[in-house]
Amino acid sequence: MSIQKFDVIIIGAGKAGPSLAGRLNDAGMKVAIIERHLVGGTCLNTGCKPTKALVASAYAIHTARRGADYGFSLNGPVDIDMPAVEVRARKVILDSRTVDYFHIAIKDRIALSETLSGAAVTAVLKAANITNASQARFFTNALDTTTQGVEVSATWRGQIARDARLTLNGGYARAKTRVDRIAPNSVLPALPLLATTTLDLLTTAQPEDKIIGSAQLDAGIFGVSVNATRFGPFKAFSVLQEQVFSPTTTFDMTA
Ligand SMILES: Cc1cc2nc3c(=O)[nH]c(=O)nc-3n(C[C@H](O)[C@H](O)[C@H](O)COP(=O)(O)OP(=O)(O)OC[C@H]3O[C@@H](n4cnc5c(N)ncnc54)[C@H](O)[C@@H]3O)c2cc1C
Repeated sequence: MSIQKFDVIIIGAGKAGPSLAGRLNDAGMKVAIIERHLVGGTCLNTGCKPTKALVASAYAIHTARRGADYGFSLNGPVDIDMPAVEVRARKVILDSRTVDYFHIAIKDRIALSETLSGAAVTAVLKAANITNASQARFFTNALDTTTQGVEVSATWRGQIARDARLTLNGGYARAKTRVDRIAPNSVLPALPLLATTTLDLLTTAQPEDKIIGSAQLDAGIFGVSVNATRFGPFKAFSVLQEQVFSPTTTFDMTA
């Protein structure tokens, strides 16, 4: 059996766990997430979603009972079919679809500068009493960027046998970051603070889109899951030149 090592292990796949995992993963860490019961945690399975589904049924029944106030009448009393209310709440939890659009504009964004070198840089360093360095690289807030994107996800969960549950997930994400402004280098105007190497890191060095699909089967104490992720193409500086990396798909199976 091979031993896998992770930078971070997150306990719980509720509301907080997966988004934290995503951020840590974006920061380059290898992350594992462990869930002891149901993915989605309290909010999806027992908190926000089911309670709001029950409230929606109560609201509809209440309104129907006040038909006279709204100018209609029903033939007979409005009875509550509690098992049907619960079935509806359950269905609302099991079928989940989300679409998110985001537009994030950042002014004075902090980024790592190009590596600046040459006689002019050495002179500036020398004037600051730095005599043992010939290159300079530093954090600068010389940048305005806008990131736009969309994320779509859908989940279906169903009881496919008495003791067997199947969960299917699908998702698509696409994001693009553009540079709106780069401040000039006020000390050495001929040397740009940010150029291809550094700008690629912010704009093109992440896959331009991502498609994920997963299936999980839980039967008693046994569970098996299969995940597939397709990462879109990206462009980044590799060694000395800009290079385009082709899309790639990864598969992961756990039992
Ligand atoms: C009735 C109710 C209604 C709510 N309505 C709303 C609402 O309308 N809007 C809103 O914003 N919030 C609402 N909330 C609050 C919301 O549910 C929580 O804020 C949210 O779920 C917190 O997310 P979390 O990831 O911190 O924890 P959780 O969602 O509770 O996730 C924790 C996860 O960790 C897992 N776990 C715990 N221990 C272990 C372990 N040892 N090993 C492995 N896994 C483990 C659990 O199984 C669980 O899946 C409601 C809560 C309740 C109870």
